[in-house]
This record gives sequence, structure tokens and C-alpha cells, in this order.
Amino acid sequence: MNGHAVVTLGFTRPVYAHELRPGDVFAFPDAPSTPLTVAHVKKTGLSADLTLLNLTVHGRDEPLHLPANTPVKALRMLRTVSLACLLCRKSQDIDLDLPHDGEPLSLVCADHVPDLDELTENE
Ligand SMILES: [Zn+2]
Repeated sequence: MNGHAVVTLGFTRPVYAHELRPGDVFAFPDAPSTPLTVAHVKKTGLSADLTLLNLTVHGRDEPLHLPANTPVKALRMLRTVSLACLLCRKSQDIDLDLPHDGEPLSLVCADHVPDLDELTENE
């Protein structure tokens, strides 16, 4: 049973390379049809303003080196987000694929969401 209801915002904000984690799928804006799956991320801080990423992607021997603030197009970013219920403040972990599901905004837990199966039976 999956009774909670999550309100999400469309995932329209820009995503930067430093947000990527192993397992994420992304593309560069100038090659949107070439999805890359992140295998490993290593960050190297060069100065207060500049962090370089050493990004290993599946299927490529050479890691990519890019500044942490490089804009990327996120295709899959699975994240577990903890949200507090709007009505009772009970917090709950929600799994979201941000580019598809959107950014989590608020949650109403299963305690306040009527069970749809029960509703139809009672009619
Ligand atoms: Zn609740």
C-alpha cells in the first residue's frame, strides 16, 4: 500500500555537475542525445571558487574533467528525500527520480489519504 500523497514542482531548475552521484544519468546540453551514466565522482578543490570534478562514466575509459559548476541535463537522479507531513509533521522518506517526478514540495502521509480501494467498495 502506498497511501501518501506528494506534491512536487516541475524539475526545471538548472542542474550542475557537482550534484551528480554514482548511478545518475545525465547529458551535456550540446549532446542531449548521448546519455552518460555516472560511475564515480571525485571532487578536487583548487581554490575557494574552483572545484574540479573527475567524473568516471560507464563505457568510457578516460574520466571527464570538468568544473563543478558545469551545467548538465539531468536524465535520472534517484534521491531519497525526507519530508514532514503537512498535517501531522510525521516525517517520511520518499524515493523520487527528480527529472521525472519533480522536486518534492510537500507531503500528506497515508493517515490522511483515503484508501482508494476502500472508497470504491463502499460506494
Ligand atoms: Zn500525516
